[in-house]
Amino acid sequence: MSLTNEIIEKVKVKNPAEGEFHQAVEEVMESLEPTVEKHPEFVKAGIYDRIVEPDRAILFRVPWQDDKGNVQVQKGFRVQYNNSIGPYKGVLRFHPSVNLGIIKFLGFEQVFKNSLTTLPMGGGKGGSDFDPKGKSDNEVMRFCQAFMRELFRHIGPDTDVPAGDIGVGGREIGFLFGYYKKLRNEHTGVLTGKGIEYGGSLIRPEATGYGAVYFAAEMLNVKNETLEGKTALVSGSGNVAQYAMEKLLDLGAKPVTSSDSSGYIFDEAGIDREKLAFIMDLKNVRRGRLKEYADKYSTAVYTPVDPNLGYNPLWNHKADVAFPSATQNEINEKDAQHLVNNGVKTISEGANMPTTPEGISIFMTNGIGYGLGKAANAGGVAVSGLEMSQNSLRYNWTREEVDSKLHGIMKSIHKAAYETSVAYGKPGDYPLGANIAGFTKVAKTMVAYGVV
Ligand code: NDP
Repeated sequence: MSLTNEIIEKVKVKNPAEGEFHQAVEEVMESLEPTVEKHPEFVKAGIYDRIVEPDRAILFRVPWQDDKGNVQVQKGFRVQYNNSIGPYKGVLRFHPSVNLGIIKFLGFEQVFKNSLTTLPMGGGKGGSDFDPKGKSDNEVMRFCQAFMRELFRHIGPDTDVPAGDIGVGGREIGFLFGYYKKLRNEHTGVLTGKGIEYGGSLIRPEATGYGAVYFAAEMLNVKNETLEGKTALVSGSGNVAQYAMEKLLDLGAKPVTSSDSSGYIFDEAGIDREKLAFIMDLKNVRRGRLKEYADKYSTAVYTPVDPNLGYNPLWNHKADVAFPSATQNEINEKDAQHLVNNGVKTISEGANMPTTPEGISIFMTNGIGYGLGKAANAGGVAVSGLEMSQNSLRYNWTREEVDSKLHGIMKSIHKAAYETSVAYGKPGDYPLGANIAGFTKVAKTMVAYGVV
């Protein structure tokens, strides 16, 4: 049995009932197999065994009082995975589904994603099974304060810098940061995704969507093509999707779809700037449903979600490029085949894990340029890294400065993933290239430190 397969088996035995974690380790370890022969020093230093084990996993009780005065108890997690190349960095997720296996899977992935960004950031992840949905602002504040009452002793601007994810938006970051500041009596960059008024970075909201489009532009550049005049399928209508569409318009492409959890719109005439402004107002201000778009614009057709269909018709339109930007597993095997049949040659994932393993294998066997989320959506964490730099400098860069740094980082991520795929004899295999490039930097550093 190969070393990487041995590690996969060991992880499954030693971490029972952590399915998502097993899946992530399997995916990364399979890509890393060729590095075993190329880097005997990694084997000698036990890197493969060490990299799957987090530096530490902190589990804590979070008691808080609801508006009726009842005491509620939630689970709190922070998994500090690996800080070889910089302080632990990764989001906090508040959602009832959160458990240790999910936090470990996300933290493990984050180590490689952060390494790819070229910035000095290690990997970590945390959260709670608390559900902010349906809670009053006061309840959310009391929960965030109770959560920070324990978390504060484990984090710091040079130790571990969390950010927001599902269930942790600007409101929660404000409560968490406010309480950290109170407990420590210091105003430092201990969290990212902060409000502009108290240390946030310009371009952070735009970063993931813009980054996914910059990444696609780099993939096309390898084939001497550009996004100019290309038709794009985009899913989602949230933060990532909106700014992916904005950057597509900047670069002369034509987005024709957008979706929410109820259905999707197909606008053959293209979603132009005026229509995008309508979507932004609809989703960010009025909190409405996308169906309204088709009521307003006669060029658009709305199709509600049909859970019995077995595929998502959004991916079944003629196009050149696709930006899945809604949620996990939104492209299955059938969807992937539809994309191939409709002429889509480049995929850049704004969402995390939007394509199932079967879908990915359709892309790979058909020679599709497949930009996996770990590389293509790293723009968000990259600008979080730039927020840390600005906080340390006690200085704010302009929009143009941050955007230009983001653009440069996405180019570097693409270059590292592509050149690594070439070096390992599989040009254009971005999953292989991104996993190996992210891993190699961390592994070399671990070797340099000795056995610690
Ligand atoms: P938002 O909550 O802003 O938007 C999510 C969008 O996806 C909404 O339009 C939502 O519709 C839609 N959606 C959610 N579930 C489904 C579903 N089951 N079927 C169809 N549509 C669905 O999230 P973000 O834009 O921030 O995140 C989107 C993805 O990108 C996630 O996978 C996230 O983890 C990933 N990501 C985000 C980053 C960021 O910086 N924001 C960074 C890296 C990755 P509705 O309006 O109905 O809820």
